[in-house]
Amino acid sequence: MAGVRVGNRIIGADAPVTVGWENLPKVEGGAFKRAFFTWFQPVTFFGFLLFWYYAPNEWAVASTGIAIGIVFKLVLLGLEWVNPRHRSWQLTWKELVTDLFYVGLGYTVLRIVDQFIGSDAIIGMVQNNFDLAKVAWFTGLPLLLQAFLISFIFDFGQYWMHRGMHNWYPLWLTHAPHHYITQLNINKGAVGNPVELFLIGLGIGGFFDFLPRAFLLAGTFGLAVSTYQHINTRFNTPRWWRFLFNTTEHHSVHHSQDYEATRSNYAGTWIVIDRMFGTCVDGEAELLGMEGGRRMHIREVMHYPFTEAWKTIKAKLGRGASMPETAVPAE
Ligand SMILES: [Zn+2]
Ligand SMILES: [Zn+2]
Repeated sequence: MAGVRVGNRIIGADAPVTVGWENLPKVEGGAFKRAFFTWFQPVTFFGFLLFWYYAPNEWAVASTGIAIGIVFKLVLLGLEWVNPRHRSWQLTWKELVTDLFYVGLGYTVLRIVDQFIGSDAIIGMVQNNFDLAKVAWFTGLPLLLQAFLISFIFDFGQYWMHRGMHNWYPLWLTHAPHHYITQLNINKGAVGNPVELFLIGLGIGGFFDFLPRAFLLAGTFGLAVSTYQHINTRFNTPRWWRFLFNTTEHHSVHHSQDYEATRSNYAGTWIVIDRMFGTCVDGEAELLGMEGGRRMHIREVMHYPFTEAWKTIKAKLGRGASMPETAVPAE
């Protein structure tokens, strides 16, 4: 990471990133509050796992998952209000209205994609080419192991797609708008250009009601782990949790204004993948966003990948070679 180390802060331009768990603030307040924000994450995580493991078949459907997801997000919004990580990230009406626009847009885009995937033609094609005997070895594994493998393999793919976005200019153009958010809260995962949604492959199959239970269990990792990457709540996250799982601390470093620091913590759920490939930075940042925290308007988010691409092509044709300033340098 570029910058000068001052105390426990790495100063890169005007964008400090605090590095090292021991340097991060802890939850302040009474015994109950501290216990609550220490145990909330693991208790809900294991609670969801138990639920999906033992739920009767008529409950174990995707629509139950969607309902739980909505209620859980409302609870988390409450926690952001009670115990914010940074006051500077607290919701304003303007931020909330913008976020809800993106949440609605993401939902609409996913519905269209899922309708296409769920159409009779596609389902028929899958059924004709799908040989149950070939996956028997997998469905014969213990249920929790299946769920872990689904979650881990999916996240492994996301890790490389996300890392690719930060290292290859055409992919970066689709992801850049997400890096113009200037604060984190639980709805911020939805903020970005819709093209990115296709690339990340978010939520595909989320609307099917014939999902095997292993997928519903795997969804728990998404709901009870990944959701926290954009939350504005301070937790005393257990050591084993932050070793294995992505946290808001990790993801705030990824969103920081320090360009070098953003090239870290690519995983959505399993931060241990970043540890495997040497891209993990344990720490946190408060000042977020590209161009020193310029807030990008919805209209620009929508056209940015296309207009930036066009600008680059024009510049290349005009002057021959040389990337624009916003380009992502090679690793
Ligand atoms: Zn990113
Ligand atoms: Zn993010």
